[in-house]
Amino acid sequence: MIATVGAPAPVRVPTPRLDDYVASQTFDKPTLVIDVDRVETQFNALKAGLGEAADIHYAVKANPAREIIQRLVKLGSHFDAASRGEIELVLSQGAKPSDVSFGNTIKRASDIAFAWNAGITLFSADADEELEKIAENAPGAQVYIRLIVEVSEADWPLSRKFGCDKGTALRLLDYAKDLGLDPIGFSFHVGSQTRRAEMWQPTLGALAEIWHAARDAGHDLTLLNIGGGFPAFYGEAIEAPTSYAARVMELIHAAFGEVPRIMAEPGRGMVAEAGVIVSEVLLVSRKSDRDMHRWVYLDIGRFSGLAETEGEAIRYQFETAKDDDPTGPCIMAGPSCDSADVLYEKRPMHLPLTLKSGDRVLIRNTGAYTSTYSSVCFNGFPPLDVVVI
Ligand SMILES: *Cc1c(COP(=O)(O)O)cnc(C)c1O
Repeated sequence: MIATVGAPAPVRVPTPRLDDYVASQTFDKPTLVIDVDRVETQFNALKAGLGEAADIHYAVKANPAREIIQRLVKLGSHFDAASRGEIELVLSQGAKPSDVSFGNTIKRASDIAFAWNAGITLFSADADEELEKIAENAPGAQVYIRLIVEVSEADWPLSRKFGCDKGTALRLLDYAKDLGLDPIGFSFHVGSQTRRAEMWQPTLGALAEIWHAARDAGHDLTLLNIGGGFPAFYGEAIEAPTSYAARVMELIHAAFGEVPRIMAEPGRGMVAEAGVIVSEVLLVSRKSDRDMHRWVYLDIGRFSGLAETEGEAIRYQFETAKDDDPTGPCIMAGPSCDSADVLYEKRPMHLPLTLKSGDRVLIRNTGAYTSTYSSVCFNGFPPLDVVVI
């Protein structure tokens, strides 16, 4: 990163519990180790910033480990589920159906019926057909309409796949009523890994205008679901969770005015920093004697948990026992026989020149979007193992 005067120093929050555990164990396959106490710390920090006016609905897809769900249930977290499987998971760990929203805008009709019969009453939609499915399978349910976010400054934008524009959103509120549903508000997602709270601002003005237009049209909106986007530390400075969340709430209130009920759906910001992946170097090589670049192949790659290296969007932090040795650039790749399984090439990583096969590599702050992205057994490599301490 480019250091600017007054900017917060990019410092990783220490994780002594994880470090002690990892140092005391040997691993024969790539393993994600999660410190569930750290998830609790993060929940409390986000909650402190969001304040009493907002409920946290943890986005289960970030990491569905049972121990995480159990701990969050105990802390009073609510949940955003995307499928029947995620709903079954959170209910089986003690979440109340009234604390679970079904937030995927692309739902299977039978999953909607399942959720409704299980007692879930809050659903999202961004299209006519989705409202029709909900009306048929969850008659009278509460719905919120997802708005499209056109510009995102996030490192992992979700933008155009989800949501609808102003005209469609206003029409869908009317249509939901015609179908006998109870349209109560809007949702949006600024994009995952939105590093600074100020990056929310350009989006909020346009969305607030839709909120006000809906109220002017006679819709008694009570719910604003602000989605996720809360960042994790991947080497570039980010604000601490409490001040970040508090600033987002200030920006929301400035744009929207009073909102009766706010939902926030942190995923990455809740669990990423609670996890470290223990991996191993399988090979260090050069393609020719004149090759400037070393290739470093790890036992984990794009298909076994590091999917977010796609486009080199998320740049993880690697740590080895040789980090005090001189370093040099290298291309990093995974172990599978697929040429797309390259992690960092356009912007090479700098790793110790002494690194060799068999060396342990820690991949920091990888508690989010790793175990869930790991393929079942591509090329015979086992899925990412998860240990919760
Ligand atoms: C994935 C997802 C989230 C979580 O986003 P993060 O950026 O990880 O916090 C929240 N809400 C919805 C609807 C999602 O799909």
